[in-house]
Amino acid sequence: MTLTEKLLARASGKAFVRPGDNVWVNADTLLTHDVCGPGTIGVFKREFGQNAKVWDRKRIVIIPDHYIFTADSLSNRNVDILRAFVKEQDLPYFYDVIDDPEGHWVFDAAKGQLKRQYGSSYAGVCHTALPEKGHARPGEILFGTDSHTCMAGAFNMFATGIGNTDAAFVVGTGKLLLKVPQTMRFFLEGELPVGVMAKDIILHVIGDIGFDGATYRAMQWDGPGAFSLNMDDRMTVANMAIEAGAKNGVFAADQKTFDYVDARIKRNGTRSEYTPVDPDPESEQSFVFDKKYDLSKLEPTVAQHPDPGNRALAKALDKVKVDRAYIGSCTGGKTSDFIAFAHVVKGKKVAVDTFGVPATPLVVEELRSTSIGGDSVWSILENSGVLLTENASCAACLGGPVDTFGRMNKPMVCISATNRNFPGRMGHKESKVYLASPYTVAASALTGHITDPREYLS
Ligand code: SF4
Repeated sequence: MTLTEKLLARASGKAFVRPGDNVWVNADTLLTHDVCGPGTIGVFKREFGQNAKVWDRKRIVIIPDHYIFTADSLSNRNVDILRAFVKEQDLPYFYDVIDDPEGHWVFDAAKGQLKRQYGSSYAGVCHTALPEKGHARPGEILFGTDSHTCMAGAFNMFATGIGNTDAAFVVGTGKLLLKVPQTMRFFLEGELPVGVMAKDIILHVIGDIGFDGATYRAMQWDGPGAFSLNMDDRMTVANMAIEAGAKNGVFAADQKTFDYVDARIKRNGTRSEYTPVDPDPESEQSFVFDKKYDLSKLEPTVAQHPDPGNRALAKALDKVKVDRAYIGSCTGGKTSDFIAFAHVVKGKKVAVDTFGVPATPLVVEELRSTSIGGDSVWSILENSGVLLTENASCAACLGGPVDTFGRMNKPMVCISATNRNFPGRMGHKESKVYLASPYTVAASALTGHITDPREYLS
C-alpha cells in the first residue's frame, strides 16, 4: 500500500484498502477556525441537538486566524461564538485572540494595524500553529475546515480539508466516510541550487500537472530530495497539494520529523504517543503517476495570474511590473521564509509597497531574535521599507474585509509568497497575483518588476 492507503487502512481498522474503497475513517484531530467554526457549530447543534457533547473534547483544536484584525463587527463576533462553544464544551485547545474567557473580541482600528493586539494564547495561522502547538503527530488523521489542512501531510499524516457539514459530523461522531484516493508519486533527487526554494518545487510540479492535475488524488513525496528538505520546506510543499486539486499530500517520517514533532509536543505538553506509517517496499506500492524530478535543475519559478498551475520562470517575466509585494501566510510566513527574504533585501530599499505578515506570534518573536550580520531579521525588513505587522494572521492572503492589512482594494499586480492566485483571491477581483518564493518576492520588491533572485544571492 502507499502511505495514504496505509494511513487510511489503519484509521478504518482494516488490514488493507485500495483506491476507490469507501471507508469509515476515525479522526485523531478536528481543526477549525473563525470562518468555518461558527458554521460547523451551527450544523452540529442542529443535527445532534442543542445539548449534545462533542465526541472527544481533547481532539478538537480551534485556532481563530482568518478575519481577526478587522473592525468588521461580524468577523469579531465569530471569535466570540467560538469562545462560547469552547466554554460550553470545556475544550482545552482554543487559541483565543483575547485572554479574558468572559470577554468579547473587538479590534481597535485606532491603534493601527502594525502593533500587537492579541493576548497570550493567540496562535496565528492555523496550519502553521497546529504543528507549532504540538498537534501534529506522524501516522494520524487530521480533518480541518480549511483547504490547506493538507499542510500537515509534511508530518506523515493524512490531513485534508472538509466542509462544515462533514466537520459537524466529525465533531459529533469522530469519524467520516472517505473514498480512498489514488496516489501520485513525486520522486525528488538532487539538491536545490542557490536561489531556489521549496516553493519553487511545488510551483514547478503544479505547473507540470496543472491546477487540477491531482484532483482527488494523494501526492506522495519521496526520494532523497524529499528527505533533504527541512520541515518548513516540507510544509510549503504539502500545503499546496490542494492547489493541484489533491485530496492530500504526504511525506514519510524521518528523524527530522520526529525531532520537530517531539520538541513541540514537549514544549506544549500535548499528547506524546504516536505511531508513524512507514513506506511499504517499492514493489508493494501502486502509483497512478510516478515521476522523477531533479531538484538541481530547478530555477526560480512563478505561478502567473490567474491560477497556481500557470507556470513560468522568474527570469522570463522581467517585463511584468508589480505594484505590490507580499510575504506571509501558512505557506510563506514562516521564520525561514522571512530569513530568506531578509538575505535578499538586507541593506537595500524596496521599490514598491511591500507587506509582511508573520504566520504566528512565535514567528514574530523569532524574527526579532534571529540575526543576520548583527541585525535582526525584523529590523532588516523594516529598514528596507517593508510594512511589517506583529498581528500574525491570514491577513490579505484571502482578501478579507476591506480594512484587512495588505488587501488589494483596487486593481493591482502583486507578487506574493502565498499559495493561491485565482481571481479576487487577495482582494479586488481585477487584481493579478503572481505566486513565488520569498527570494523571488524580495528581489521583485527591490526592482518593481518580477525578478530572478539569483542576481542578489551568491
Ligand atoms: S494564510 Fe491563506 S492559505 Fe493559509 S489558512 Fe490563511 S487564508 Fe488560508
